[in-house]
Parts: sequence; C-alpha cells; structure tokens
Amino acid sequence: MDKDYIRAVDNKIDLKSLDLPELTQCIKDLGEPAFRAGQLYQWLHVKQAAGYEDMTNIPKALKEKLKEGFSYTSLEVVEVQESHIDETKKFLFALSDGNVIESVFMKYRFGVSVCISSQVGCRMGCKFCASTLDGVVRNLLPSEMLDQIYSISRYTGEKIGRVVVMGSGEPLDNYDNVLKFIRLLTDENGMNLGQRNLTVSTCGIVPNILRLADEKLSINLALSLHASNDAKRKELMPIANTYSISEVLDACRTYFDKTGRQLTFEYSLVAGVNDTDEDARQLSALLSGLNAVVNLIPVNPIKERDYRPTDRSGALEFKNKLEKSRINVTIRREMGRDIDGACGQLRRRHLEGK
Ligand code: SAH
Repeated sequence: MDKDYIRAVDNKIDLKSLDLPELTQCIKDLGEPAFRAGQLYQWLHVKQAAGYEDMTNIPKALKEKLKEGFSYTSLEVVEVQESHIDETKKFLFALSDGNVIESVFMKYRFGVSVCISSQVGCRMGCKFCASTLDGVVRNLLPSEMLDQIYSISRYTGEKIGRVVVMGSGEPLDNYDNVLKFIRLLTDENGMNLGQRNLTVSTCGIVPNILRLADEKLSINLALSLHASNDAKRKELMPIANTYSISEVLDACRTYFDKTGRQLTFEYSLVAGVNDTDEDARQLSALLSGLNAVVNLIPVNPIKERDYRPTDRSGALEFKNKLEKSRINVTIRREMGRDIDGACGQLRRRHLEGK
C-alpha cells in the first residue's frame, strides 16, 4: 500500500525519497513495466536530472502519470556566496514550501566535500550556534538532503567525494529520514557514495547513536563534545541535561566497537570558557584510550552571543597539551572565513533581510 511511502510537502509521494524496490512497486502500480523503474532511478540518482524534461528515454505518457501522482523534489538556488580565500561556496536553497536551507561546498587537496543540512532550523539550543536561535521549523526529507548534493554537483560540475551531515539541524533528531537518505546516497544503484566517505555529526542523542550503531553501516560518527565536564557542557549544550558525558562516550565506544569506524570529537574553542589548562587536562582524561580524533575549531562568533574564539596561539597550545596525552588532534582549517561561515548564518541573514 502506498500509504507507507514518504510524502512531500504537497502530500504526493516523494519520488526522490523512494528506494529502488519502492519505486519498482509504484511503477508496477501505474501499470508500467518494471524496467522503467530502473531507468527512472538512474535519471534521479545517477544522472541527477533537474526535472522530467531531461529524461529522454521515458515516454511522455509515463511522465504525465508521474507528474500527477508524485512530487519531484528539486531545490532552487537562491544565493551562492563564493569565498575569495579558498574555493568554498555557500549555497542558500529554497525548498518547495518556501523554507530556505544552506549547504557548503569545500574543495580540499584530496577532493570535494559537501556539508548538508538535515532540518530547517534546529531545536537543540546549543548556545554558540546560529541554526538553533529560532528553533526547528521542520525535518528535511531524504530527497531534500540528497538534492543539496545533486544540485551542488550540477552547479559546480564537480564530482562530490565526501559528504558531511554537519549543516543546520540535528540529524539524529530526524532519524528515519536521515537513515533513508544514507541508504539512498550510498546505494550501489544510485550515486553510490562510499559509506566511509560519509560523516554524520551529532550533539549526542544517546539512544539514536546506539540505534545507528546497529544499522550495519560503516559511516563515520562525529560527536560535538565542546566541553570537558558536565557542568560546562550543560552551559553550552542543553542536550547535556539529558545525557551525561560518560553516557555519550559509552555510546560512542559502542559505535566504534560495532562499526570499527574511527570517532571524531568536535570541540569548538571558546575563549575563557572551555580552553583552559584544566579543560585540556580533563579532556585528555576523558578521551584517553579511545580510538578518536579531536577536531578543534575556534568558535565562529555570531552576533546574537558574545562568545569569542580562542586565538591561533591559544588553539595551538591547547592542541599541544592534548597531544602530550597521546590524543590525536587536528585544528580544523576554517574554510570560507570571508563568507557567512558558521552554521545557519547565511539563512538568518536572508530571513532578517525579508
Ligand atoms: N547537530 C549536529 C550537526 C550540526 S553543527 C551536531 O551538533 O553535531 C556542526 C558542528 O558545528 C557542531 O559540532 C556544532 O557544535 C558546531 N558549531 C555550530 N555553531 C558553531 C559556531 N558558531 N562556531 C563553531 N562551531 C559551531
């Protein structure tokens, strides 16, 4: 029965959120031969067509039936900000209901990476983050997550080698859609992104980290830690009132044990708040023995809060202290510093300008 299929905002079946078996069933239900599903799936997920007009081998009559019964998600580019320092591009996309989201294209020596949003807004309330200031508007559909990647690939003409779910939203607060997105993105009949080239970043919703660990995937998990003890984490991240650091780290350990994938801990350095000697000591103690990398990034200031970033030398000092305790650390290169770099800033500027 088609009632189980994911629906787009117009309540029609969301074509790009269907996996191949589901699409095959839909095509059969339309009285069409099953091979059309394979052709269609290829247009959607391999050739990443912008619309039906590109689909040269699909008969007109079938296109008409599809237009009637299904929704074809396609994001509209509203604005592209290009960095003059590196080749980072920040995209503002409009969804079919007029909501806007942002995604980032980053070019590294080893390839091209795209950072996507998983929700419109966010309800996690992290104090330093611009995405969450007005709460969550809605979850993104699998198709809307995929289309951020497909649209950026079409716009830039680049092959996307890595995807990080690190834009606006909390992916594990939109679990089912994110999981379907992961399966579609890494499907060998679709875009076929290697699971190892996909990273999901979470503020630490423990039960869903454990669920993800059981999905038999080999995607990477990044945990937004940002503090060295529970008291400080509670000040920065409301989720810390629900799950203690030790519960979150236990879940991460389980994730590693079940998947074998190395963990990343994100730690945004806020001057005077989480970058002290004591923080470095406590953090080292917490993470010792874990197969993990700590990613330090000086907090990106947002105008709504007065958090200041740790300066370059302070960040290096913090890194050295962790390294003395044999923790793997990188300082994340700040990409596109000259454009609205931090999560949610471009969208906010757009909404405020209205
Ligand atoms: N909800 C997910 C993913 C979203 S944000 C999560 O919490 O992991 C991706 C990363 O950017 C997170 O580590 C988040 O804490 C961090 N972040 C958000 N705003 C930031 C800012 N202004 N400066 C530095 N890092 C920020």
